Amino acid sequence: MEFKSDIQIAQETPLHHIGEVAKEAGVAEKYLELYGNYKAKVDYNLLEEMKDVANGKLILVTAISPTPAGEGKTTTTVGLADGLKQIDKKVVVALREPSLGPVFGVKGGAAGGGYAQVIPMEDINLHFTGDMHAIGAANNLLAAMLDNHIQQGNELNIDARKITWKRCMDMNDRQLRFVVDGLGGKPNGSPREDGFDITVASEIMAILCMSKDMVDLKERIKRIIVGYTYEDKPVTAGDLKAHGALAALLKDALKPNLVQTLEHNPAFIHGGPFANIAHGCNSIMATRMALKLADYVVTEAGFGADLGAEKFLDIKCRAAGIQPSAVVVVATVRALKHHGGVAKADLNKENLEALEKGLPNLLQHVENITQVFKLPAVVAINAFPTDTAAELALVEEKCKALGVKVALSQVWAKGGEGGKVLAEEVVKLCQQPNQFAYSYELDMTIEEKLNAIATKIYRAEGVAFTAAARKQLDQLEKLGFGNIPICVAKTQYSFSDDGKLLGAPRGFVLTVRNLKVSAGAGFIVALTGDIMTMPGLPKVPAAEKIDVDNTGKISGLF
Ligand code: ADP
Ligand code: MG
Repeated sequence: MEFKSDIQIAQETPLHHIGEVAKEAGVAEKYLELYGNYKAKVDYNLLEEMKDVANGKLILVTAISPTPAGEGKTTTTVGLADGLKQIDKKVVVALREPSLGPVFGVKGGAAGGGYAQVIPMEDINLHFTGDMHAIGAANNLLAAMLDNHIQQGNELNIDARKITWKRCMDMNDRQLRFVVDGLGGKPNGSPREDGFDITVASEIMAILCMSKDMVDLKERIKRIIVGYTYEDKPVTAGDLKAHGALAALLKDALKPNLVQTLEHNPAFIHGGPFANIAHGCNSIMATRMALKLADYVVTEAGFGADLGAEKFLDIKCRAAGIQPSAVVVVATVRALKHHGGVAKADLNKENLEALEKGLPNLLQHVENITQVFKLPAVVAINAFPTDTAAELALVEEKCKALGVKVALSQVWAKGGEGGKVLAEEVVKLCQQPNQFAYSYELDMTIEEKLNAIATKIYRAEGVAFTAAARKQLDQLEKLGFGNIPICVAKTQYSFSDDGKLLGAPRGFVLTVRNLKVSAGAGFIVALTGDIMTMPGLPKVPAAEKIDVDNTGKISGLF
């Protein structure tokens, strides 16, 4: 069977004017800043006006440990929201905004798929409202001020070998991972080893997403550590007097972007930090705004639930003082078969035995949500055209036998109509009281916190530190960073730090190789392997197929 491409479906859908969508959502006109007819930013002063309005229910969409293709969290998030609307609930979606890197690389866009998308998908995937550029500019202003400080006499005594702040750009460009800059003699700076990150990996992006308002944003920027002195004293953006100008550059980027789903329901698409070295979810501002406007807010956290949901709950919810009322764990037949040992080439063939063998991965994610975080959860089986009826029935049957709530989601094929069953289940879960708990408390030591995450969520035997990481741990505690949350940078493909250990591995130890503080974002990043913060393009980049015609119509996205 031939299926329409995502962009085809998106372009066939007539858009409503964003003013109508905003009006329906209850955004007063004075807070709406139009970016053309179909995109708008919403002024954060709306939050002040609505501060006494009760919050709606928050629904987190997370997933099984994925295959590299992605299991459909964004698709499910959008489709579930449209499904909730179809059963007459007032709903707003909150999602991350895509980076240009993956658009031109392997993954394609990040605006959902099939009949569950946010539109205009071309704009959302390409430039959008310019937030990425503002974040890049802010990041690079700080880099320029830092090197200029050294050039102008280095009053702060910065050790150029201990600079941690990199330049960034929003492109997959491996050529820039390691560079030597400042060449050309004294008037042209001091030569040093340097490098670029992709913009979404910049701490500015994480800060934008963690900030509750402009003042908080500025305070966080002030705390950014850009490097260390010869005496190992941290040097901050505040020491460089950079925070005011950076915040000024981010004035509009801090305002949530409003667009619509294919069924014209409101969607905030705002902020998109990496899910490894950062927390991987959309801005606190957008989530808060959505909670004021709607009775149900559906949002997504990056990667599998061991990373995405854990960080969403332990980092974002804790900082924002919010909590979900229900969690949706997306699973696919192909991911279950993958965890059951089926090779990539055979994932489209029916294999009930492998499917059953892969279930422990899903069940561990569900158990973590219900027993560690004590939140109600439902498995959403994201139905693919290649799934057989027997496969779909088996997952449903096994989950039910184990007392796990489960709903078949057909939003990719049918939009909101295909999400009504899931929506009904989610509404039921939201009515249950819960005893939400974090997986660790902030006053535990860094090591205790890491141990809690590793043993409770990943089910590791414990945590090992390399000698370098142990030294960094001591230094960070001495500097007073012992009491902030931990952001684990780990492969998304396994509960362990080895991407090849599929299913629900046991008997492993999590090795922490590197610890660094993102003092502005407000967490310690624990790196368990080499994490790429500047991706490269694949052999055949998606960019080769993207085009635009004389009317301005874009093709080839995805
Ligand atoms: P995630 O957010 O988990 O990374 P996405 O929702 O972005 O996943 O989906 C990844 C890709 O898979 C997208 O290209 C999307 O169109 C496709 N996809 C998602 N769900 C389905 C489905 N049920 N059937 C076919 N393709 C799907
Ligand atoms: Mg996604």
